[in-house]
Amino acid sequence: MDFKKIENLLTTPKKIIITMHARPDADALGSSLGLAGILKKMGHSVDVIAPTEFPNFLRWLIDADKVILFSGETDLHSQKLFKQAELIFCLDFSSLKRVNNMSTVLDSSKATKIIIDHHIDPENFADIMFIDTEAPATAILIYRLLKSLNLLKYIDSNIADSLYSGILTDTGSFQHPNSTAESHLITAELIKFGANVSEVSRKIYNTNSINKLRFLGFALSNRLVILERYHAAYFYIEKKDFLNFNLKTGDTEGLVNYALSLENINLAALITDKGDFIRLSLRSSGNIAVNEIAKNHFNGGGHKNAAGGKFESTLESAIGAFEDIIKTMYKK
Ligand code: 5GP
Ligand code: MN
Repeated sequence: MDFKKIENLLTTPKKIIITMHARPDADALGSSLGLAGILKKMGHSVDVIAPTEFPNFLRWLIDADKVILFSGETDLHSQKLFKQAELIFCLDFSSLKRVNNMSTVLDSSKATKIIIDHHIDPENFADIMFIDTEAPATAILIYRLLKSLNLLKYIDSNIADSLYSGILTDTGSFQHPNSTAESHLITAELIKFGANVSEVSRKIYNTNSINKLRFLGFALSNRLVILERYHAAYFYIEKKDFLNFNLKTGDTEGLVNYALSLENINLAALITDKGDFIRLSLRSSGNIAVNEIAKNHFNGGGHKNAAGGKFESTLESAIGAFEDIIKTMYKK
């Protein structure tokens, strides 16, 4: 990757937008806020815009309270920012589909666009693409960029925490196969810059609401289906469950991993009735490529062992489709 072009764009103060995929996770939001912190210190004017709400357990990230939530066609403030921006960083996504109804303003903006991402099948809607589909996290790519542009000196403890959050969660707390030597080496550097690993873990993993824990108990008892023959398991969540447990964005995050944690299970799903559509969150261990399942059947994508997608129908038919796919996979 030739970082010279990005370097040249940053030599004079610019109006910059940093944006990320919808329902941002710690990698998307942490990378964005970390990069924003650096660019602000360089003298740029930076706005971070998210296509949708992000989970509560990320509220503590530096300047998370300043993130602008795009609120649709009537959001004149965001539209103005997109019109005026000279540079737009698109982090942790590389397909316009992933920013929901923000795609039109993003695509039509005249700004120079830079994609920094690690998802497969990137779409070419930007001027500069920094893609590494093997990279464990976008936060790692941000670190590589900072290093080659000689910007590491701007990393403070808050920025280090933001980037570390992305690495921590996208490697599944360093348990996924993408937990490379580089991810540990960069983590070590971030710790030297002041990242507080125990505090970050506590804030991300140990700030559950009692509703979320009671819902977990309920889902484990009543919403988990095990397809033993196919080494698969899935949770299905009905719309009324959200109301009964007063669930918030992010409250079902991590649930799918309980299905994958079962002995002899190597494919897991969370199938959620969102009202307008059904969302699928898929996880696997070993060689099962769930991004292929997401891409071929659920209009989605992702990584080999973690992917997601949508199904425009009822919960029952989504469950049926998922079971059929699993059974067909085993026939082959
Ligand atoms: P999650 O199940 O946590 O929502 O998503 C897991 C991973 O799958 C994400 O990191 C993201 O890469 C990918 N993913 C989730 N939903 C979609 C989707 O609708 N489209 C694509 N292309 N990828 C998705
Ligand atoms: Mn990511």
